[in-house]
Amino acid sequence: MSSRTDLIEDLMGRFPHVPREAVIKEDLLRGGLAFDDSALTENEGGDVKPKSYFIFSFDHRTLPELGAAALRRPPEEIVLTGGPYELRRTVVSVRTNPDSPYRVKPDDDGRLKLFLDGRAIAEVGLPPMPDYYRHTLANGKSVMEVAPTIQWGYLIYLTAFRVCQYFGAKEECQYCDINHNWRQHKQAGRPYTGVKPVDEVLEALAIIDKYDTARASKAYTLTGGSITSKVDGLAEADFYGRYAQAIEERFPGRWIGKVVAQALPRADVQRFHDYGIRIYHPNYEVWDKRLFELYCPGKERYVGREEWHRRILDSAEVFGPRNVIPNFVAGVEMAAPHGFTSVDEAIESTAEGLQYFMSRGITPRFTTWCPEPTTPLGRSNPQGAPLEYHIRLLEIYRATMEANGLSSPPGYGPAGPGRAVFSVSSFMDSLPAEPTATEG
Ligand code: SF4
Repeated sequence: MSSRTDLIEDLMGRFPHVPREAVIKEDLLRGGLAFDDSALTENEGGDVKPKSYFIFSFDHRTLPELGAAALRRPPEEIVLTGGPYELRRTVVSVRTNPDSPYRVKPDDDGRLKLFLDGRAIAEVGLPPMPDYYRHTLANGKSVMEVAPTIQWGYLIYLTAFRVCQYFGAKEECQYCDINHNWRQHKQAGRPYTGVKPVDEVLEALAIIDKYDTARASKAYTLTGGSITSKVDGLAEADFYGRYAQAIEERFPGRWIGKVVAQALPRADVQRFHDYGIRIYHPNYEVWDKRLFELYCPGKERYVGREEWHRRILDSAEVFGPRNVIPNFVAGVEMAAPHGFTSVDEAIESTAEGLQYFMSRGITPRFTTWCPEPTTPLGRSNPQGAPLEYHIRLLEIYRATMEANGLSSPPGYGPAGPGRAVFSVSSFMDSLPAEPTATEG
């Protein structure tokens, strides 16, 4: 393969039923993109919505290494259209990589374009600064810090606990930089609240509710690091659940409530539901048994893979299988030193996991792995997984879903190329466009 352009065009030719938009989006997500200084945002003082660093860094360099791209922040997301591949509207989360062959910069006429290997391949749209980001809480904190929105404003992302109690090499998931990201923002002197007070979250949500007059925000996600002991005197279900309880009391039914947490015992899962959460994400991370043990050592040690899976199935009895949506990190299956070395094997393993859950009515979903440089797997795999793996995953995901009579999961906005807003993988871009009952 001589260039990245050759690579994507080869895959577009070999997998014509996977939308072209998804091929480019997956490549941008796995490898990142560079920004011309003129395409940066000026933080919260400009007209473009800046990258909020809502949980992980999702960058290919640390903040000090990014220089201007860190100080003047890139946009949270970009939207691609047109160009030689005639792209339909495609929303892509921004993962910065100064060495990427993809670069966002103005063309000779001053129009912002995405360039690949020096050739313009798409128009680039930037997210406008939302009105609610222009207001601050009474204590001066920004809405972007307390309640950032992603997915083109669809999802309010509430990382209530900015660190994880799986700590250090023997416990942290080997692809996760949540703890490093917290440290680097602190070192940069940025506001980055470790535990978000409930009343600050409510105050930020009130600002969003007031100024989001188009009602683009439709869901909130409560998440953060795993809690193996207690935070604020509370175990995991009650710690995250208390935010949902407060939100549902103050804004009943305004947004779909979701939680990303560990696979907890059934009584705890019931408490999540009682607190008002409607969608549960007990992420299983990677399907293969050996890789789960090696790459998620904390989860293996505290809960164990088989128990984790059993709890996922149990939680379907509480939430209903449609509303249990466990995530996996697409690509770590192929991460050295222990991952599969062939795409065939990696797809076969991942497909086995998809079938396990989908045959029981549970629809997993995935985010595209970003090999962040401060993680063990990012360090040993700076290029991430092969693009072909990501494209074939989209193919097998859709096929397994259809074989089991399922459709796109609730709480992700519209499906289909040109319609999807889910920005951290292209699974929603690759599914057929169809209305789902729970979308408002
Ligand atoms: S459980 Fe793993 S993936 Fe989740 S925050 Fe902790 S270290 Fe990261």
